[in-house]
Amino acid sequence: MAKKILRQAWTEDRLAQSYLFYGPDGVGKELAAMELVMALNCQSESDQPCRQCNSCHKTEAYIHPDFHYLFPRPHPSSDSDKRKLAEEISEMLKEKEAQPHQAFDFGSRPIAISIDDIRELQERLGFLPYEGKRKVVLITGVEAMTTEAANAFLKILEEPSPTTNFILTTDRPNALLPTILSRCQKVRFEPLPQEEVIKSLVKDHGQDPRAAGLLAELSGNSLGRALQMTDQDLLSERDLAVKLLKAAVDGQQWEMVETIDQIARDRGRPARILEMLSAVVADLVHLKVTGKILNADRQAELSDIGKRIDQQKLSEMVRAIEKARIALERNVTPRLCLLSACNTTQGEEDAFTSD
Ligand SMILES: [Zn+2]
Repeated sequence: MAKKILRQAWTEDRLAQSYLFYGPDGVGKELAAMELVMALNCQSESDQPCRQCNSCHKTEAYIHPDFHYLFPRPHPSSDSDKRKLAEEISEMLKEKEAQPHQAFDFGSRPIAISIDDIRELQERLGFLPYEGKRKVVLITGVEAMTTEAANAFLKILEEPSPTTNFILTTDRPNALLPTILSRCQKVRFEPLPQEEVIKSLVKDHGQDPRAAGLLAELSGNSLGRALQMTDQDLLSERDLAVKLLKAAVDGQQWEMVETIDQIARDRGRPARILEMLSAVVADLVHLKVTGKILNADRQAELSDIGKRIDQQKLSEMVRAIEKARIALERNVTPRLCLLSACNTTQGEEDAFTSD
């Protein structure tokens, strides 16, 4: 595991000057790279970034003066286009600060890491660190360097300053100059099974990308099971679960009961809705903890709902939904199960014991 290798290098004081994180798209290379960047200048002196200190904050916001971040980008020729691009990139970085998974999207414009980018980097590396212990250079998508840029970058790597560290990421290590490869300590990132399942659902099976994550999760990351579930119009079921949750959290009894009646009319549907409800509520928990959620397309709405329910009620609801799912399997009437799953949010008594 990549993280373990890095922690070991760190604690045994064998940190390499340059790292190359490689592996397929979407396996967490860039997130791990950011962790390392942050750890390298964190003021807490531990092997993990504290995310509290001034240095961590500045790194996270991409404004640390000793952190240089290069990534493939368009290269406009006119000065006014350059200014526009700079503004665009600063907006993207702000969004990325809030959503680190977000990729840069430059539409159909050709992108690269150019010789100008490398020259600018070289200039900035000519100074001692301003604030931090060292300068840290992160280059993502390093395979997008032009030949000229790659040769210039190689010169930087060949004359390393002891106070500078490089972290490179790529999903195509074979596209790099062998001379660059040989100067980096390589760390391989393995594909996460869930990512693979999601990718396959979208690419090979034409599934709606918005539903693929949910499908993967609900199927326990089994491609076969996920495919079996696809004919059940997952997204509209999910939306119904969100509607129910919202009514429950807001105490809109009438809306809640009406929705439950609608769900309970169809055989098989209550079980699916409870399953969805469980996934959606899990997202509310994740929103409070990590910010990373399954139903990313409904993030705004879910954040909104999340603000109106506290941690304790949320835990109660998680338990109530679990209980309701078990009760449903034991042939308790679907309507009662659904009501019970929703009612805890208003602190009412458990329907199974009060009935
Ligand atoms: Zn820190």
